[in-house]
Amino acid sequence: MSTLLVIHNPATGEVVTTLPADTPDSVAAKARAAREAQALWAMRPLEQRKRCIEGFRAGVVRDLEQLARVMTEETGKPIRMSRNELNGLLPRIDFFLAETEQAIAAETVYDEGGMREQIQHEPLGLVANISAWNYPWFVGCNVILPALLAGNAVLYKPSEYATLTGQEITRLLHEAGVPRDVMICLVGGGEVGAALLAQPVDGVFFTGSHGTGQRIAEAVGKRFVKLQLELGGKDPTYVCEDVDVQAAAESLADGAMYNTGQSCCSVERIYVHEAVHDAFVEHFVRTVRGFKRGDPMSEDTYIGAITRAPQLDVLDHQVADAQRKGADLLLGGRKGAGPGNWYEPTVMVDVDHDMEIMREESFGPVIGIQKVRSDEEAVQLMNDTRYGLTAGVYTRDEARARRILSQVRAGSVYWNCCDRVSPRLPWSGVGDSGVGLTLSKYGIQAFTRTKAWHLRSGG
Ligand code: NAD
Repeated sequence: MSTLLVIHNPATGEVVTTLPADTPDSVAAKARAAREAQALWAMRPLEQRKRCIEGFRAGVVRDLEQLARVMTEETGKPIRMSRNELNGLLPRIDFFLAETEQAIAAETVYDEGGMREQIQHEPLGLVANISAWNYPWFVGCNVILPALLAGNAVLYKPSEYATLTGQEITRLLHEAGVPRDVMICLVGGGEVGAALLAQPVDGVFFTGSHGTGQRIAEAVGKRFVKLQLELGGKDPTYVCEDVDVQAAAESLADGAMYNTGQSCCSVERIYVHEAVHDAFVEHFVRTVRGFKRGDPMSEDTYIGAITRAPQLDVLDHQVADAQRKGADLLLGGRKGAGPGNWYEPTVMVDVDHDMEIMREESFGPVIGIQKVRSDEEAVQLMNDTRYGLTAGVYTRDEARARRILSQVRAGSVYWNCCDRVSPRLPWSGVGDSGVGLTLSKYGIQAFTRTKAWHLRSGG
């Protein structure tokens, strides 16, 4: 196992810093310390735990500009999108602060003839959070904050591509009063994640790719610990013929390319009714051409760097595969010149489901647009996938949208919007997009064990 983690700036290729990485021994020692500290943390009144999270929120607001720059430097995310993520975190924090008490309150469900039945939510105990880099504040805090509020200790392994951000999350929680052993940040890559899974944790909450999710499920499967996997998607949107074509194209270009296409709920494939297909494509290409690509630290940059260098070959492969099978490349389709990891915003038409671009997650600024003749064909194609994270429909007709979306297998569905997450709604996937959920009141209860109390008074 490497003892150093080298952090690169994906926009320049330069080394940002080098950190000492965790080892199996250090991970084991931290897990023991967290186990001990958790009991005292859980005994604190919820009000005290909430005050710590309020302090964390104040720290995010105070340090926002510096936190945005750290995230942009290590991930290549355009600076205004880093600010958007941090500002978007604040209502999530507010949601958890407002809802936790009710979500985990004990409930009396029967009380008759001296017999009472109650449901109680106890913390799971020691929670492992292995996380992704693309929205590191969102995906980290979706787990860390409700887990801490519910009385758990957290062993957090941020992505090796967002470790400095992971350390900032941890610093702000410690400064706000969360004990150091209750919230622990581990440093390293997949091997440190694997070392964490070898510890006797009570819950594993993972955000990342399908392939790693499978390895994690295999690693913990026999131990019956609570396991949640939030994985990738190949999220479809269908554009009906009754829409404002230009508005739909602009909205979906943003949904496909925001964060340089590196969102779990990016629009990954678009089906357009044949009556408006050509006009839609024209507006879509014009919109994408207008996106400014370049230095992620520049205020007007919209398309930033590709965070992980190996993804460049995945994108190249998908484009070449589609071209070989007859797709038409309207824009982009190539790596950008280095240094750093760059890919041109890419739009392909005349695509079909024999092509990987319509089947496998691209996770980059690459989109395929396919013509369809009917709602039935659109539904059949939207469901022709092993994933099921989000799906959307653009139409003026709500009844039509509801009819279509009720037939689509996905954890979240969108009418006339896309690439959207709300703290009030559960975030989940079906099929190869994962199991379990975060956010909403259910995403708070997810960090508890429900205990049944049978209470007969008298004795
Ligand atoms: P990844 O699977 O490469 O890595 C995720 C994490 O797993 C990292 O922290 C990594 O170090 C760790 N890891 C790798 N191998 C491991 C092992 N054997 N044991 C334990 N841990 C291990 O994913 P990524 O590149 O960081 O993230 C991109 C993926 O995440 C995309 O597929 C994206 O769709 C998905 N994602 C999903 C959601 C969601 O909410 N569903 C949100 C964000 C990202």
